[in-house]
Amino acid sequence: MHGTQEERNVTSGPTSEEFTNWIKDLPARLEPEHVGSAVMAPLFSHVLAHPARYEEGFALLRDKMIDLTVRMARENTSYYGKSLETAGHKFTGYEQLEELPLVTKESIYEHEYGIISDITTFGFVTFTTGTISQRPLLIQRSLEEQQYLQNFFSVLQSNRFESEASQPLGISEGSMNHGAVLKIPGFGYNFMVELIRDYGVLRTVWLLQNEFDFPGHQRKVSKLNITYMGLCVLYQYMEQENIRLPEDQLDAITIFGWPVPPKRKKAMEDFFGTGITDNFSMSEMFGGARYCDNCGGFHFEPFVVPEVLNVETGGRIDEGVGELVITPLFPFSQRFVLIRYKTSDLVKIYDTDCPAGKKAYKFKGRLQRSVKIAPGIYAGEAEVAKAIDDVPGLSRPSSGFSILNDPSAPNWPKFKINELHEDFKLGLTAELTFSPEEKPGLLKNTKKQIVKRLTQDLTSEVSSWLQTNTDALTIRLAAPDTLSERDYWNL
Ligand SMILES: [Zn+2]
Repeated sequence: MHGTQEERNVTSGPTSEEFTNWIKDLPARLEPEHVGSAVMAPLFSHVLAHPARYEEGFALLRDKMIDLTVRMARENTSYYGKSLETAGHKFTGYEQLEELPLVTKESIYEHEYGIISDITTFGFVTFTTGTISQRPLLIQRSLEEQQYLQNFFSVLQSNRFESEASQPLGISEGSMNHGAVLKIPGFGYNFMVELIRDYGVLRTVWLLQNEFDFPGHQRKVSKLNITYMGLCVLYQYMEQENIRLPEDQLDAITIFGWPVPPKRKKAMEDFFGTGITDNFSMSEMFGGARYCDNCGGFHFEPFVVPEVLNVETGGRIDEGVGELVITPLFPFSQRFVLIRYKTSDLVKIYDTDCPAGKKAYKFKGRLQRSVKIAPGIYAGEAEVAKAIDDVPGLSRPSSGFSILNDPSAPNWPKFKINELHEDFKLGLTAELTFSPEEKPGLLKNTKKQIVKRLTQDLTSEVSSWLQTNTDALTIRLAAPDTLSERDYWNL
């Protein structure tokens, strides 16, 4: 389709043709001085507003930025200087990216100083826990990238701030379980909280109810950027104590860290009076994926390049289920350099006709905790947890909060699925709140509900496979206090 008058009339942005031509006018091989925030922010403002419309032009821009990112990695870090010795001399766009070696979390632990760009200035450190058995992974950030993001977003938001009388007040959670997500700088003021202990919840509620008088800022908190579990606890407590915020107080809730079950999401949206945006983000990089209310999938932000690899062959796939690999782009990430970083997350990638992005993703859980139930079909632990979240009669571990009447209510049901293996069966073991011998009727009903959720609410290929292969599903329901405690950190 050509850039027609009709397309122009929809918004004041450029036509897709005009946009593509702007990208073509950029140098074939970008240098750092070509990607200053004054150049990139206006281009990205169009991509962020209409991802599908500018897809063609953005693909060209992304190719050029991948090429720059790979060259910067090879030239300025000792680790990639060796591993990418041959790469970066010829042009490396999305197509050629596949030829480069992958980076695992283990190799990052081993080379955590070798992947640091030596032309950047140390700024600060965030961290991620990875798994329980591993020490935290330290993620260095540079002064340059902080400054870059600050400038980039102030250009991007300049119109918005002119029209707003005051800057937003927000609440952000730094989580030991998930590290600290890199905040977009220069966006109002955020109170830092933690929602893992009683006092953190009480203080957060106080912050939500109080009025403040900071020059140029709103008087009440209007935004939350907290973990899914933090929001569940906050909701549980406020509901229990009958604490209600004025209906129009909150205008955005962004959550990260865990998948959100649809029914809980709806209940919390009704309670807080605003929509909840589910975010896939990693402390390792700036940028991630956002849940899209329009199509029900996630779309990646243009600051990172996602790839999905077939679990068995390692080859890149455009459709289907595989491991997520991410390359954060220069100049949004500058010091902690990751080229083709294996996330260990199992995702489904598929095509949509959504205006927010032609590729959509579903997050299924950790690869190591997934079950292969048929050739190419995997059930992830996170999607199972989400599906069975509100089945009554399942026991949940205590969240440890003494201010909650029911401290287990915010938590996931206690369950396990069998490990990744080849016999094409999905086994689920869950713990009951009641004795199965004493209440056989209830037992039957609980089991029936679990079967119903698994055959309806998992990603479509898994649920439809289970519908036609009913004998492949084994459900074992255990008596109270018989299933060992387990961690849900990496769900
Ligand atoms: Zn969408």
